[in-house]
Amino acid sequence: MRQPSTTTLLIKNGILVTPQGIIEADLLAQGEHIKAIGRGLPAAHDTHVLDASGCYVLSGVIDSHTHIQLNTGIYRTPDDWFAGTRAAACGGVTTVIDFATQFAGQSLREAVEARLEEAQKAVIDYGFHVMVTDLPPGREGELAELIELGTPSVKLYTTYRIKEKRSGSYRPNYYADDATILRLMETCADLGLLPLVHCENDALVTAQTEALVAAGETGWRYHGRSRPALAEQEAIQRVLFLAEAAGCPVHICHCSTARSVALVAEARDEGQRATCETCPQYLLLDDTLYEGPEPWRYILQPPLRDPWNPASLWMLVENETVDSIVTDHCDYTEAQKTAQDDFTQTPGGLPGLETLLPLMYTYGVVKGELTLPRLAMLLSTNPARLWGLWPRKGALLPGAEADIVVYDPAPESVVNIENPHHLAGYTPYEGMKVQGRVEATISRGQIIYREGQFTGQKGRGRFVERKRVDE
Ligand SMILES: [Zn+2]
Repeated sequence: MRQPSTTTLLIKNGILVTPQGIIEADLLAQGEHIKAIGRGLPAAHDTHVLDASGCYVLSGVIDSHTHIQLNTGIYRTPDDWFAGTRAAACGGVTTVIDFATQFAGQSLREAVEARLEEAQKAVIDYGFHVMVTDLPPGREGELAELIELGTPSVKLYTTYRIKEKRSGSYRPNYYADDATILRLMETCADLGLLPLVHCENDALVTAQTEALVAAGETGWRYHGRSRPALAEQEAIQRVLFLAEAAGCPVHICHCSTARSVALVAEARDEGQRATCETCPQYLLLDDTLYEGPEPWRYILQPPLRDPWNPASLWMLVENETVDSIVTDHCDYTEAQKTAQDDFTQTPGGLPGLETLLPLMYTYGVVKGELTLPRLAMLLSTNPARLWGLWPRKGALLPGAEADIVVYDPAPESVVNIENPHHLAGYTPYEGMKVQGRVEATISRGQIIYREGQFTGQKGRGRFVERKRVDE
């Protein structure tokens, strides 16, 4: 099944899906790049032919928000870059943009270099946003190194502080106060870096959590109440305001409510350069699950919202107000999640890389919430454009890298933990019906997944240096 690396690959008789539309055509990849698109392309004697009759052929999925092999300083996911990116490959994902965390005492360059070391086992291509956690006044100039490193985006958090057991006081863990956010955004504006921000008002979340703790209501089922929608929306509004003051473009992470997206849209209507993403969990799941038998599955930040939210969020996805759909993938195991029925002690985050495309196809396209071209835009073209990868990636065009997913819309199945390759041992989407499946995943011209078999190799993935968006 493994194709020699020097051959050309001809994907025949597929239905090509791009943001511009749908055409029946063949696609020829030579080496790592797309060489030609057209009808009846001829195959040479040594061309590897993949018959895609009845299948959609899309540009490989680019998940621009993942947490593979995550170490928060408190919790650690057990996956590594091989396991994490193999799950991605099996789901049609050909590039991830993950995070390089600046740990205490590290320079930004050291943070990126340490992460590059870990990611060497990857099977698909990868880039990093840089989580800036410690850049006191006077050191902002270090941000310029991110351009050289090919990581021109900065992750900031409005929340996450740790309560000291002895003193009961809080110290920042990722958290940046408003003055820090404004200061770093001013430098980002000067340098052409794009900040992406996790928005939840920390004071509101902390007060709500402390009230629940005081009332003895710390079971998983109370998790949603500890992080109200207002906390997210207020922080988004404030971060947009700070970005405007700094003259800096801004990207708002994992919008969980329709109002969150609407706030970004209002800023954009006023002329601000603001973009946003949402995630399958906010489109498909809701907070009634916290009242169900297994609330631990849905511990994440921001939490699931009310049952009326997904329908309005879908509307904003379809009408192009949401820019991209990302997973925020985080592979904590069932054992880690269920160690204590206490939301304050349970690591937050859900696995999702492998189910992203099938779920968005099923509940987006098949249910009529999304068109196929719009799906291609949300999952590949827009993330490539937003994060400085386009047209090298995210484009079904001659000259682009041959990162491709072949999706067969016919088979029906049910999400279950028997098939996913991630290590979590559970999926938040257990039991949901899925229409279609990933038939093949191609990364830079090489078939790395085909008919249920992973055929890639550890370490074949490459770090992709990203450009600043204005370059
Ligand atoms: Zn995240």
